[in-house]
Amino acid sequence: MAEILDGKRIAAEIRSEVALDVEKLKQDLGRDVVPCLAAVLVGEDPASQVYVRNKQRACEKAGIEGRTHRLPADTSQAQLLELVEQLNKDDTVNGILVQLPLPAAGNGGAGFDEREVLDAVDPLKDVDAFSPVNVGLLMQGRPRFLPCTPHGIVQLLHRCDISVAGKHVVVVGRSDIVGKPMAMMLAQRDGSCGREVANATVTIAHSRTANLAEVCQSADCLIAAVGVPEMIKGNMVKPGAVVIDVGINRVGDKLVGDVAFAEAAEVASAITPVPGGVGPLTIAMLLHNTVLATRLQNA
Ligand code: NAP
Repeated sequence: MAEILDGKRIAAEIRSEVALDVEKLKQDLGRDVVPCLAAVLVGEDPASQVYVRNKQRACEKAGIEGRTHRLPADTSQAQLLELVEQLNKDDTVNGILVQLPLPAAGNGGAGFDEREVLDAVDPLKDVDAFSPVNVGLLMQGRPRFLPCTPHGIVQLLHRCDISVAGKHVVVVGRSDIVGKPMAMMLAQRDGSCGREVANATVTIAHSRTANLAEVCQSADCLIAAVGVPEMIKGNMVKPGAVVIDVGINRVGDKLVGDVAFAEAAEVASAITPVPGGVGPLTIAMLLHNTVLATRLQNA
């Protein structure tokens, strides 16, 4: 039976480190600065409401001010861009997070150009690391902010003493939020946690990958970021592999990952659960980025 990688415990550890870092920042700057994360929530999507509430609570516990700007679903693109611009200019705001997905057309609204909204966020306040400037810096191996979910996974591997250097990592999924940056981070020479959680030989798989099962079976570390409930079966996992399940899928009243957990846990050497695996780390790394943003803006 695989070791269960306890993301919840590691996230709590990182969150206490962030709280200490907030205190250290005050000492370093010699004044009572409180980092501030502004979340923008458009519409009434229940999952987004829960995410934003959780982020706000996590901020407060770490000594970070969490502000939420709620806009109705029928807000126009121009109004949303105007709010982002205000937050860019507001010196009391250090990090800006636009909760995705933005509402689709319908519900009285005309829909949004997400890319244009994300591009409008000041790269120095872009704690999600979605702006082209921050993506470019990551690509060149000199990151400013690291995207929260893949960075959480790097921290998890590091803190569980799992090395991927020289190993074959298969990332299933090529989204801008998870799959692509994950692959990029693990292929770099230097990682945020040193060279052992970097230097991997990385394959990116997606919906057009031929022989997906075979590709997955060749992975020493298999990372699933697909959004299809339990699609990675036990027989797709190489014996002894490390399995990281990024998926969060609601099936009935249960949350399940992209990996069929029970089957995969019989074959893998280590695996993340859902919930309690990658999810809590994403929020912890968002807090980390908010403190980093505050430091950079006060440098
Ligand atoms: P996404 O943007 O929908 O991307 C999904 C990727 O999976 C795409 O690249 C898609 O391929 C690929 N894919 C879909 N079906 C496939 C199949 N049958 N075989 C192989 N590849 C397939 O999703 P995302 O934003 O990366 O999120 C992925 C999952 O992670 C979701 O469950 C999401 O809720 C979860 N998530 C969790 C966290 C967290 O904090 N734990 C954070 C973000 C996301 P194509 O590109 O070819 O379409």
